Amino acid sequence: MIDIMKLAEEADTIGISGHIHPDGDCVGSTLGLYNFLKDTYPNKSIRLYLEEIPEVFSFLQRSEEICYEKTDITFDLYFALDCGDEKRLGDFAEQFLSARTTVCIDHHKSNLAFAQENFIVPDSSSTCELIYRVLPKDKMTKEIAECLYTGLVHDTGVFQYSCTSRHTMEAAGFLMEQGIDYSRIVDATYYEKTFAQNQILAKAVLKANLHKGGRVISSYLTAADMKDYGVSTKDLDGIVNQLRITKGVETAIFLYESAPNEYKVSMRSKRIVDVADIAVKFGGGGHARAAGVTMTGEPEDILQTILKEIPDIKDGKTC
Ligand code: AMP
Ligand code: MN
Ligand code: MN
Repeated sequence: MIDIMKLAEEADTIGISGHIHPDGDCVGSTLGLYNFLKDTYPNKSIRLYLEEIPEVFSFLQRSEEICYEKTDITFDLYFALDCGDEKRLGDFAEQFLSARTTVCIDHHKSNLAFAQENFIVPDSSSTCELIYRVLPKDKMTKEIAECLYTGLVHDTGVFQYSCTSRHTMEAAGFLMEQGIDYSRIVDATYYEKTFAQNQILAKAVLKANLHKGGRVISSYLTAADMKDYGVSTKDLDGIVNQLRITKGVETAIFLYESAPNEYKVSMRSKRIVDVADIAVKFGGGGHARAAGVTMTGEPEDILQTILKEIPDIKDGKTC
């Protein structure tokens, strides 16, 4: 296990980053650690660098301090959180790599242990669960608890997915006791959608197709679809999960156009298919039940390429 206090005490300048296209676990874990470090070491120079975060997370403490532009500062210590490889740090990879000490805290099965110090626990529900483990409990505040609870909720699908464990629930219980409004966090950051987000979700469901006798579901959205509904790629969270809950489906595949001729692929599975293995084959990564990759080409062609990698299922087993 990593000794955060020891690492921080030996550094004057500390940087933190998470993965590109930040999700609830990425925002919650980086802000949770950032808030802890700022509270504990007010005289150190500590900065958090992320891509623009979804508006729903802006209530988290110090989210207004997030830096969105890269820097040429050489940090004494740099944390990469919720990132399986350095590419996933996007524009901030260089400043991470140039730091004197680099640390990775993550739970991706596909993690390459790319830092000098790595705390990688693939069985953990979320990076927030790991940050909870490494932070001294007597330094916990309501505001840090809000950050970490948000990440737990998002990576477990509100404590539903199979990555949820006793450790997750114990962490959640402790965080609830810090006086956070846990119901509001779930509602406002996970379930609530704008009208346009609901409409684009509906569009994706209407466009969906079943494959392999109903075991696989797929859908895709083009840039033109997004334009029609006045939404951006940040408005598409949750679509793949909605596809996944279709009765009889084991694997859900959702693609959206992330740049001309380029698609971001999200995959989810219920019990059997290891979607991380498939994503890794195409240069992506993730977890057995939730993974992603970016691919180029026409969406129908990308889909066919991926479908070929999805094993047939018989009697609840892959074959
Ligand atoms: P998503 O489908 O984007 O929600 O991602 C599902 C999981 O896979 C998350 O844990 C992501 O961090 C991970 N993931 C998504 N895209 C990639 C990628 N291109 N490379 C590595 N991991 C990814
Ligand atoms: Mn994440
Ligand atoms: Mn995560």
